[in-house]
Amino acid sequence: MGYKAWFQCIKEECRASYPINSIIYRCKNCGSLLEVRHDLEALAGSSAKEWMKLFEDRYKSTQWPYGSGVWGKKEWVLPQVDNENIVSLYEGGTNLFWAERFGKMLGLENLWLKLCGNSHSGSFKDLGMTVLVSQVKQMISEGAPIQAVACASTGDTSAALAVYCAAAGIQSIVLLPKGKISVAQLVQPIANGALVLSLDTDFDGCMRVVKEITQDETIYLANSMNSLRIEGQKTVGIEIVQQFDWEVPDVIIIPGGNLGNVSALGSGLLMMRELGLISKLPRIVVAQAERANPLYRSYLKNFETFEPIQAQKTLASAIQIGDPVSIEKAIRTLKQFNGIVADATEEELADAAALGDTTGMFNCPHTGVALAALIKLINAGKIDRAEHVVIISTAHGLKFTDFKVRYHEGTLDFPCRYANKPIELPARVDAVREALEHALQKRREQND
Ligand SMILES: *Cc1c(COP(=O)(O)O)cnc(C)c1O
Ligand SMILES: [Zn+2]
Repeated sequence: MGYKAWFQCIKEECRASYPINSIIYRCKNCGSLLEVRHDLEALAGSSAKEWMKLFEDRYKSTQWPYGSGVWGKKEWVLPQVDNENIVSLYEGGTNLFWAERFGKMLGLENLWLKLCGNSHSGSFKDLGMTVLVSQVKQMISEGAPIQAVACASTGDTSAALAVYCAAAGIQSIVLLPKGKISVAQLVQPIANGALVLSLDTDFDGCMRVVKEITQDETIYLANSMNSLRIEGQKTVGIEIVQQFDWEVPDVIIIPGGNLGNVSALGSGLLMMRELGLISKLPRIVVAQAERANPLYRSYLKNFETFEPIQAQKTLASAIQIGDPVSIEKAIRTLKQFNGIVADATEEELADAAALGDTTGMFNCPHTGVALAALIKLINAGKIDRAEHVVIISTAHGLKFTDFKVRYHEGTLDFPCRYANKPIELPARVDAVREALEHALQKRREQND
């Protein structure tokens, strides 16, 4: 086969490169982030048709590890890892469904939801973590001194890291901002045997500490500044196109915090274009919470400047990030994809998530941010109702039950327009009949 990948500095003027089995997170020359590059000439030895056929033959098969949505594209992701070192929990291959009723509410015929949260640990983070932990296992087998893998997290990265490390028999360490993640997210690394460190700070504070701790090569860094994660996450764009029988949608909307995922999405699509599988690119929209919107602020200034901010508390806790590590990659991606950035207030994101739920979704708050962005961009005329739009849903709604409970109880600090309170009644048939009559009448009026 002879396929090869390596790390390369993202700075045009530097372009230093490093072997894929180096313990390295930033360029040693200039300090910039790295990206994984592939020998495209070798990959171009197979035609676009041949790649498409190979990816389709493997898709969701039980031929380990190729049935995984990530490892089905192994040659494009991490070709040099030995199959015996792959740590896979059958990630990817998530459902993509037509959001018919929600779309119609907005006058859109062709709206789809890509449910990345229907995954082993309940978020898209699995896509990247399978690649990172597999490479760690590979390096340990080659004699690297790694004793544990660590990350700072807003909840989902730590859940994914802990479960993949548990599957591999490698120790994980997670640094979490105390009191700022959901109970479900906290219990995941606890259950999977991670060393859980709860720090009295926010995500950005945890990130500063973990960067220092991982200076020591025995503790490997699993945050998305480590570009191995991006390689797994980039399969999401490829998979979406594959699910549409290799047709490219017009717009893809993705919630963004640390901004690794948007760069990953772009990187997969660009690779498809370079290897001839597609000829056009979609527009990419990044959706941010207004309380943590540094990218949106930069977008308003045509990306001429970027200022990190102090992120404020938001219901979209996984994107409560004021100083995103992948900012340069994200801006580059948005420029290549005629990108848009939109933001959403707490009320907008919560209402959008709840409205989506009434049409058969079960949204996490970050997906709510993406849906709110869609509504705003349609109203602003920036997305046309005839366009084919895909929303990337980043996590499973069940990880965020506190958010949903508080919304429907109406205990958030705004009106909660679509709150659906349980009706408390004595256990008597007449009382139930009477209540149903009223309630059904009210619903009919609302639907007219
Ligand atoms: C991590 C995460 C995001 C943000 O992804 P970035 O790569 O940090 O931009 C969005 N939603 C959920 C649910 C996440 O876990
Ligand atoms: Zn460099």
